[in-house]
Amino acid sequence: MEAILYAEVYLICMLVLLLLLFWSRRTGTYSTQEVWTRRVLTAFLLNFTANALFTLVFHGLLGNVEGLFWPYVLKTLYFVTLDIGVYLWCGYAETEAKRSIFHYRGGKSVVRFALLAVPLLIAVVNLFTHQLFYFNDSRQYTRSVMFHVNMLYLFGFSGVCAMRLLILAQRDSDPARVSRLRLTASFPLCILMAWLLSFIGESVPVICVSVMLELLCLYLGMTMQQVSLDKLTQVNNRQNLTGFMNYKLAHHDGELHLLMIDVDKFKQINDTYGHPEGDRALICVATALKQACAPFPKRPYIARFGGDEFIIVMEGTQEEADKLKQAIVDSLNVQEGEDAPYRIGLSIGDATYVKGQSMKEFMDAADKLMYTVKNGQRVA
Ligand code: GH3
Ligand code: MG
Repeated sequence: MEAILYAEVYLICMLVLLLLLFWSRRTGTYSTQEVWTRRVLTAFLLNFTANALFTLVFHGLLGNVEGLFWPYVLKTLYFVTLDIGVYLWCGYAETEAKRSIFHYRGGKSVVRFALLAVPLLIAVVNLFTHQLFYFNDSRQYTRSVMFHVNMLYLFGFSGVCAMRLLILAQRDSDPARVSRLRLTASFPLCILMAWLLSFIGESVPVICVSVMLELLCLYLGMTMQQVSLDKLTQVNNRQNLTGFMNYKLAHHDGELHLLMIDVDKFKQINDTYGHPEGDRALICVATALKQACAPFPKRPYIARFGGDEFIIVMEGTQEEADKLKQAIVDSLNVQEGEDAPYRIGLSIGDATYVKGQSMKEFMDAADKLMYTVKNGQRVA
C-alpha cells in the first residue's frame, strides 16, 4: 500500500513535468534560458521515471521480478539522472547569472565535465562496489557511505551556483528579478532536504514533490520574465517599467535618477540601411546600456520605453549618474566598432526624483531634459 502511494506521487510529479515540457516546446522559442530549462525538466522527468519504475518493480507491482538485476539498474539510473539533473540545473543557474563555466570552450570544458564525471562514476562503479547503495540479505534497499558523499557533493556544487545568484540578487534593483533569482537559488535546498530525509527512511517522497515544485516555479519565473522582456533588445519592456517605477518611487534609498535615452536621427538609419539594420542598431544600444550598467554595485534598471527610446533608473549620487552616462557613451563606441558605416548618437536626459512627484512628472522631467540635450546637439 505504501509502495503504491509512493509510486502514485512520483507519477503525478512526472505528469506535471511532462506538461511543463509540452508547454515549453509549444512556445517554440529557443532562448538559452529556455533550452536549459528543457534540459533540466527532461533530466528530472527521467529521474522520476527511474524511481517510479524502481518502486513498481522492486515491490512486485508490475508482476514478479526475480533477482536484483532490474532494481540495481533502475536505482543506478535514478542516481545517474539525479546527478545530470543537478548538473543541468547549475547550467541553468549560470545562464541566469550570464557568466558561465558552462560556456567555456577548449581546456576548461574538461573541468566542466569533470564536475559531472565524479558523481556519475560513483553511481556506475557502485554496480561493482556497492558503496553508494545495495540490497541487504533481507532484500532491503540500504544506502552506503558514498550516498552521503554524493549528496553533499551535489549540494556543494549547486550551492556555489546558488550563491552566485544570491550575490546577483543582492546587487539588482529590479524586485521581480530579485525574487526570481532568490527562488532559483533555493534549489540546492531540495538536495539538502533529500539528504536529511534519507536518515528517516525512504517512505516519504518529499524530494520528488519539492523538486517538482521548484521546477514549476523555475518555469513560471521564466515565463513571467519573457512576458516582461522586450523581444528585440532583451531589456525590460514598458509594461514591466510601469510596475518597477510604481515600486521604486515608494521604496528607494537616497537619490533616484531617471535617464531618458533617445537615439539621434534613428529614422535615417532605417531609411538608409533598412529596417533590419535599424533593429541591429537598437540591439547594439541595448547591449551598450547593459555593459555600462553592469559594473555598478547597485545594478541600474534598464527598459525600452518604445521605438528608439530607453530608460535607465538608478539609485545613487549625481556623480554616479554622470559616471554612468560616460560609461554608456564609451560602451557604445566599443559596441559599434571602428568599421561601422554610421555612428549611433544618443541624447540623454537625466532627472533626479523630487519627493512627491508622480511617475509621469518624473518621466516628463527626464524627457524634457533629453530634448534640451538633443536640440543643443542639433544647433552645435
Ligand atoms: P530624433 O533625432 O529627433 O530622435 O529623430 P529620429 O530619427 O530618431 O526619430 P524618432 O525618434 O522620432 O523615430 C523613431 C523611429 O524608430 C520611428 C520608427 O519607425 C522607428 N522604430 C520604432 N521601433 C522600431 C523597431 O523596433 N525597429 C526599427 N528598425 N525601427 C523602429
Ligand atoms: Mg530618436
